[in-house]
Amino acid sequence: MSSHHESSSAHPSLAARLEKEGEVSVADCYQCGKCTAGCPAAEEMDVAPSQVLRLLQTETPTHEDRALKSLSIWMCIGCETCVTRCPQEVDLPRAMDFLRQEALARNVANQDASDVVVFHKAFLNSVERAGRLFELGMVGEYKLRTGHFFKDLGIAPTMFFKGKLGLFPHGGANKREVANIFARARAVKKESKV
Ligand code: SF4
Ligand code: SF4
Repeated sequence: MSSHHESSSAHPSLAARLEKEGEVSVADCYQCGKCTAGCPAAEEMDVAPSQVLRLLQTETPTHEDRALKSLSIWMCIGCETCVTRCPQEVDLPRAMDFLRQEALARNVANQDASDVVVFHKAFLNSVERAGRLFELGMVGEYKLRTGHFFKDLGIAPTMFFKGKLGLFPHGGANKREVANIFARARAVKKESKV
């Protein structure tokens, strides 16, 4: 891992925070473009995956802002194709996840991705509340917040009978441990901003 961050410790750059909080070194990326070439979601993105890293490498507020406001961070489906192709093993999906959380914290998420943003929040809320994903709770929250009440409703019975849509949260989850993980993540985030 490399570490060549120029920003002051009082205002760490996103690259510095990503390295510290997410153990992803954006400096390791040498812009070969293999991640972008294999990304199944690249066509839906406004900034190519490799370019998102390039924006962070500059460690300038304007470029960081561009990355945070991009549609790309919400179009990434976390498939990890990029990681397997990357000669430097840069964990792009983890970087994208970090940027999504940061975009939400700064309230600058791309408006065109509003449905994805709601889905993302509903997913995390469900995991935090139930200790693991509770599909019906997540879908309910998503529909309430987006108003898409009847969209995709036709597939619900099939999912239910295949056991993919439980009526109650799954058992076996260590709720306390998961709640601790969320609490620790919030504490780390708070510390990094001091
Ligand atoms: S494949 Fe890896 S090194 Fe190449 S541009 Fe993508 S992240 Fe950078
Ligand atoms: S994890 Fe995201 S950036 Fe990487 S290939 Fe998949 S969609 Fe593209």
